[in-house]
Amino acid sequence: MSLFAAVEMAPRDPILGLNEQFNADTRPGKVNLGVGVYYDENGKLPLLKCVARAEAAMQADPKARGYLPIDGIAAYDKAVQGLVFGADSAILAAKRVATVQAIGGTGGLKIGADFLKRLNPTAKVLISDPSWENHRALFSNAGFTVETYPYYDAASRGINFEGLLAALSAAAVGTVVVLHACCHNPTGYDLTPAQWEQVVAAVKARGLVAFLDMAYQGFGEGIAEDGAVIQQFLAADLDFFVSTSFSKSFSLYGERVGALSVVCASAEETTKVLSQLKIVIRTNYSNPPTHGAQVVANVLSTPALRQLWEEELAGMRQRIRLMRTALVEALLKAGAQQDLSFVTRQKGMFSYSGLTAAQMQRLRSEFGVYGVDSGRICVAALNEHNLPRVVQAIAAVIH
Ligand code: PLP
Repeated sequence: MSLFAAVEMAPRDPILGLNEQFNADTRPGKVNLGVGVYYDENGKLPLLKCVARAEAAMQADPKARGYLPIDGIAAYDKAVQGLVFGADSAILAAKRVATVQAIGGTGGLKIGADFLKRLNPTAKVLISDPSWENHRALFSNAGFTVETYPYYDAASRGINFEGLLAALSAAAVGTVVVLHACCHNPTGYDLTPAQWEQVVAAVKARGLVAFLDMAYQGFGEGIAEDGAVIQQFLAADLDFFVSTSFSKSFSLYGERVGALSVVCASAEETTKVLSQLKIVIRTNYSNPPTHGAQVVANVLSTPALRQLWEEELAGMRQRIRLMRTALVEALLKAGAQQDLSFVTRQKGMFSYSGLTAAQMQRLRSEFGVYGVDSGRICVAALNEHNLPRVVQAIAAVIH
């Protein structure tokens, strides 16, 4: 009997399966809207100019690659804090935030999950229904029981806010609530500031632990606008977690650049929390990689590069918005039987199109247009070249 005889095949990642199917499709003009990345107007993954310039400067003055501190590059952690909390915020002046560099946003979530498990082993985790598919797996693998709170409301093409609030109000003290800070993946529907206010109040009233996943800061309304929810949690004087990802906002997917920030009640607590986060990191992968975080730190702390980044990020945000409007208008023109104007109310890279699994399958088989069976399409993968085909396909299946 071999050592691995009893090992079962793990379920396939549905998105990877979709990509394989897409790659095997030989039809010209096929379109992949199943991806979770931003493509530019030519359907290419962009290399941001700010990144290329920062890298050129680094290459001109190459450095040896020693081990980084366990919590990463200090200038990077500081830049993350400035972006997430506001460089002049009182919470930073009071040294009440512990921030560590992480391996992507996923790494930030995982460090937070492992720390939370030590802090409160019996707590449950609530994620949105639906959520980014890795939330459940990540928190389950960290040892938590994961349940959901209502989020998407298909009937109203929006959020079941009453259901969400009711679930939070019924949750046990100490329950960890994973919230998408902006650009909800997969639905694209975000809470309004007034709704966030009620969520903050419920979190406070029930003694819940908010874990804000901020993977798309700057892709919704703007850097400050998307980060405004953080200020609402700060104003309520809550301790909470924020994971950051620069995969999308810097188009640095493969460099794995992210962070975890934990807001604490005092500078003394922050020091202790940081020491625990470092143990989690040390026992997982010892210390983080050098390159991507250095690029981001340099861009964020060099005024000219920072300005360029903000412009490039705005360009990506505006192009996505344009594609949303263009999709809706072209569908109307094509005589589509359903009004898809809700797509323009959604934020970020994704859209819950409202299409059924059967319709999504028809898009694939008859038109070579690939999206997820849940109806999720990546609006950031649309461009004016592939739009006509996508419109023709959607119009044909939503009769
Ligand atoms: N959180 C959400 C909601 C995401 O959509 C993603 C990526 O798609 C992540 C976290 C992970 O980001 P990263 O690729 O930086 O690990």
